[in-house]
Amino acid sequence: MSSLHLASTAHRVATSATLEINERVQALRAEGRDVIHLGFGEASFPLLPALREALAKSATATSYGPVLGIAPLRQAIADYLGRERGIATTADRIAVAPGSKPLLYALVQLLEGDVLVPAPSWVSYAPQIVLAGRRVVPVATDERDHHRVTPAALDVAVEGAIAEGANPRVLIVNSPSNPTGGMFAAADVEALAGWARRRGVTIISDEIYAELAHGIVPHVSPARFYAEGTIVTAGLSKSFSAGGWRLGYAVFPAGEAGTALLSALRALASEIWSSAAMPVQVASVNAFLPSDEVSTYVKRSARLHGHTAGRLFKALTELGIACARPAGAFYLYPDFAPFRAQLAQVGVPGGLELARYLLDKHGIATLPGVAFGDAPEALRLRLAVSGLYEAGEALHWDLLKRTDAFASADPAEAAPLSLPLLDRAAAAFGEVVRALR
Ligand code: PLP
Repeated sequence: MSSLHLASTAHRVATSATLEINERVQALRAEGRDVIHLGFGEASFPLLPALREALAKSATATSYGPVLGIAPLRQAIADYLGRERGIATTADRIAVAPGSKPLLYALVQLLEGDVLVPAPSWVSYAPQIVLAGRRVVPVATDERDHHRVTPAALDVAVEGAIAEGANPRVLIVNSPSNPTGGMFAAADVEALAGWARRRGVTIISDEIYAELAHGIVPHVSPARFYAEGTIVTAGLSKSFSAGGWRLGYAVFPAGEAGTALLSALRALASEIWSSAAMPVQVASVNAFLPSDEVSTYVKRSARLHGHTAGRLFKALTELGIACARPAGAFYLYPDFAPFRAQLAQVGVPGGLELARYLLDKHGIATLPGVAFGDAPEALRLRLAVSGLYEAGEALHWDLLKRTDAFASADPAEAAPLSLPLLDRAAAAFGEVVRALR
């Protein structure tokens, strides 16, 4: 008999569809097949030189740091949020951590109640909620309505959950969204913030993609309307293409309840991760201080992602594939429902089978919507466009710079940049549609 006994929560966290697709991609590539990888959602532009140089200089910061982060970094983040994002806060309300992911998990662990999450939403929310011993309460959204999270849908989710014995007290929102690339309009943010206040629900606003709004919808945080009940999380992973730096932060509400939550977070962090890596913290101060170099870099990244996502959106919709227009981040979430009958004939009844079919028959790697909490029969997929730039630092810098010449606020309207991988992806979807017709 084995002496290893897993806890019940360990059994409830399954290996994700992400892993399965990645393994199939590796296997196909090992066979020498060409794969268009739209499954891999990592920002991968070259690191900003100011950050690179600062990290080299801070290598000798070998001590453990303060649990909530070094003072200059917390101050720089607080100032940045007020200056650039309309979030009024102070340094003592900021917690820095090795990425926003552990912060999200810690928050779910520390807040009371079950957790409302839009369907679809980021792959890690549901497993984190389950690991924390809570229930996932999905909130229905509609792609024809740009995946808005409305008070009416929230009411339905809450009533249904209560009827089943759950106690929904927390809502996670993510605008711009992974997986849809959608963003909430200011009026919708105000409506959902008002709903949360009336219901006594805490909002966790995952704003990891806030700086990567493409320029067509302004990013608005629910913290602007519901400061006392909103915790904002964000970090450097996406807007600075620096996921491996593991630098995230959370912003806590002022007042007694916010202070109690922050103290609890500090205690939990002190027992688990101690602090974010010190050299990274020291170097990261430069990402938040006012600087033309920094703001130009982030703006160019946002516009390049917007250009690529917007062009793939156009290509897909011209082919008759339904898709909500992405407004931020580097994702699209198309729906192959218009081809349901044809797909059924080739043995594709749902999203997972569709992802396998596209990979095996057409060499297109995607992630099925079911990985994001969508219905198994939904023919929806997440496409990441961040891998559609050919390798080479000089080429990436050049592409980023070329976005300065974009005349319109909408980067998809600009004269097309030369992106051969994007053209190949669009052509491959064209072949998918032709093969089905
Ligand atoms: N939230 C969303 C929606 C994400 O897509 C990601 C990264 O993939 C994260 C949070 C985690 O980011 P971090 O690198 O700060 O842990």
